[in-house]
Amino acid sequence: MSNGIPAYQKGLEQKGTVETDRKAATTKVPAGRLQVAQKKQWIPGCTEFKHDPDLSITYLKHSKLPSSTPDIDKALSYVQQAPTGIGLLGELRKQDQLIVGVHFFSVFGDYPWPDDLSPSESGHCKLASSASSPVIIYWVTVFVAKRTPECIADTLFHELLHVWYMRSSGDSELNTGHDPGASIQIDAECKKFYSGFEPVFERGLKAFDEDLQKNIPGAKSCCA
Ligand SMILES: [Zn+2]
Repeated sequence: MSNGIPAYQKGLEQKGTVETDRKAATTKVPAGRLQVAQKKQWIPGCTEFKHDPDLSITYLKHSKLPSSTPDIDKALSYVQQAPTGIGLLGELRKQDQLIVGVHFFSVFGDYPWPDDLSPSESGHCKLASSASSPVIIYWVTVFVAKRTPECIADTLFHELLHVWYMRSSGDSELNTGHDPGASIQIDAECKKFYSGFEPVFERGLKAFDEDLQKNIPGAKSCCA
């Protein structure tokens, strides 16, 4: 995009450069992971079910999830209602060159490349585009089986916060917002103890948790 106009800017989706941009944007995805034949840049086996009007965020479900998933719908509505969620989504949407695919999976074993993840992860965030690409693609993954809508929302917010943090730090995969071994210990009263997080990242997580407790009718904290 030598003229500097991002292809994914609202209204430009039909322009002929989009496919070229998508291919350029996905050069960092390891061989075999890109469904070029389908002209899709998302994780195989996942289907879009919802997206922002300007396509900045696309939500997808893996094929092993049922077509009706009220807990996912509720989790999405929690993130979209929470003041911290509204703020974060706004930050992501205003970046014209950024597109995010949020992939909901049932269980860890359904993820096509389980070696990339740790079985203890309830979600994952990955930069899927080349650093030199004019279009920045992030893959967010959220596992949902046997989890409450609050916990699904918690993971979704956490992973989107990674996108924001990584974008702010030059799309560095070494600078995600917390140490690889960061943890949140939860006691019997659901009090949380954070370790290994960057201060701004930790503040974001705490603020979203507070929103779940206080600012979203019908929701409560995720205690698992
Ligand atoms: Zn994380």
